[in-house]
Amino acid sequence: MKEEIKRLKALQEVDLEIGKVEREIAVGSEALGSQQESIEKHKADIAENTLKLEDVEARQRELEAEVEDAQLMIKDRQNKLMKVQTNREYQSILKEIDDAKSANRQRDDELVRLLEQAEFLEKKKAEQVALCEEEEAQYNEDLAESDKKTVELDAQMAKFQKSRATKVKKVKAALLRKYDQIRVKRDGLAMVGVNRGVCHGCFMNVPPQLYNELLKEEELHACPACNRLLYNLPDSE
Ligand SMILES: [Zn+2]
Repeated sequence: MKEEIKRLKALQEVDLEIGKVEREIAVGSEALGSQQESIEKHKADIAENTLKLEDVEARQRELEAEVEDAQLMIKDRQNKLMKVQTNREYQSILKEIDDAKSANRQRDDELVRLLEQAEFLEKKKAEQVALCEEEEAQYNEDLAESDKKTVELDAQMAKFQKSRATKVKKVKAALLRKYDQIRVKRDGLAMVGVNRGVCHGCFMNVPPQLYNELLKEEELHACPACNRLLYNLPDSE
């Protein structure tokens, strides 16, 4: 059993290395993913802002056309004023002119507000575009870095997998199955040391009787608390 325990320990060591590399790969792609998400969000904001700006500009054009039409109408009515016969007709045309002028003043007020709105939206859009470009540049930089890192991590992974394949062959099938089951359930840690009676998987005390058994290395024991396979871990290790 001593030999079996040694082999499982070696397997656990390489599995921890594999786990480390896997985590590093996952963290890298997660970071790139959230950068991408942020960039997409900026692009959506820019598109939304562009639509708002287009609406404002369309309304500006509409109002300007209305103002121009009203001015032509006012000019026309002013010409008519010279030719009217009755006071009543005169008053009526005068009122038309006043109404048109008043409507144009309202349009001018709205145009001023729209101009302010357009300026605000342009400014916001420029900020969003700058931010987006900045993040895209950073993303591209990080992506290139990550590509380099991936080559490195892939090479490490291949090395560890090869080492695992060799180690796996030396472990009995039933034991390997048990080890792998525990490893999957217990965060990649199936074989742990017990030092001074404490399981280094769950950090609970193992019963003294079990601890004594462990020291003999005659059988493979499991932690009663976390179910991981145990070996004796002297202070020196
Ligand atoms: Zn435990």
